[in-house]
Amino acid sequence: MYYNEETILYLDGKFVKAADSKMNFYSQSLHYGYSAFEGIRSYKTANGTKIFKQEEHYDRLRISCEAVGIPYPWTNEELILASYELLQKNNLEDAYIRPLVFCPPNMSLQKAVSSNILLAAWEWGAYLGDKLLRVGLSSFQRPNPKGFKIHAKIGGHYVNSIMACQEAKDNGFDEALLTDMNGYVAEGPGANVFYEKEGKLFTPCLGNILAGITRATVIEICEEWGIEVTEKQITVEELKDADTVFYCGTAAEIIGWESLDGIGFKIPFNNSVSRKIQLAYKNRVLELEVEDKKSLVGV
Ligand code: PMP
Repeated sequence: MYYNEETILYLDGKFVKAADSKMNFYSQSLHYGYSAFEGIRSYKTANGTKIFKQEEHYDRLRISCEAVGIPYPWTNEELILASYELLQKNNLEDAYIRPLVFCPPNMSLQKAVSSNILLAAWEWGAYLGDKLLRVGLSSFQRPNPKGFKIHAKIGGHYVNSIMACQEAKDNGFDEALLTDMNGYVAEGPGANVFYEKEGKLFTPCLGNILAGITRATVIEICEEWGIEVTEKQITVEELKDADTVFYCGTAAEIIGWESLDGIGFKIPFNNSVSRKIQLAYKNRVLELEVEDKKSLVGV
């Protein structure tokens, strides 16, 4: 699904065949989840193939490595160049790019003295599909920020996401919603959450969540269009009383919710401000001009 005989990877400055590549089984990353990664999308836009928010993603990869002491000797410039070359070599336009920084063999718990970088790319449709999501409140909470650098995208953190996702599927839901260590709404296993009430948007503040690049883009769109957005602590009850709710992330893009624990929301997603933001996001990644902002937001 992710690669075939022809697929090319970028590994430490070289383009190599995925099928011929090896990884060391004694890597500290494989044993302890001590790695950092990104999830980036490229789009076939009106102006050619473009990687959306490329600087922001590679900035976050550096921040993630720095947060846990993984050496990061690369520049955004070289990695962005390598990313475009990788897309070209694999004949990809609408694609998902997965940079992964991993560590050399070391079975101790000392911090890494060197690291490796891998870029892989493949075609990937909408990660959470395109139907409204039936979300279940998870019994899992996001990790305590005093135990993990929660703003960093670290391999090991995703065991928490896998458990929440698995539990939701086992209970017949499409996706999970996790709370933070204090019981406030946090985020999904791989996406940030917004809710809409009376034409205004609300989203959890930073501190217990990943600072999503899509989240920042949604806030950017709202600011441009004069839609009020508030970052605050949100209770599950508040969310259940929302007009609409959506998840957002690079892989998921913007995807509305049908229900939380089987309870629907006050207005149909397609009649909401959130729907207009979903359209605006799609226009932005595809570099299309929005002809009439006012009609889109209904202001
Ligand atoms: N939260 C988590 C836990 C994630 O894994 C992701 C996906 N990277 C997001 C939020 C959304 O982040 P972004 O918009 O930068 O993809």
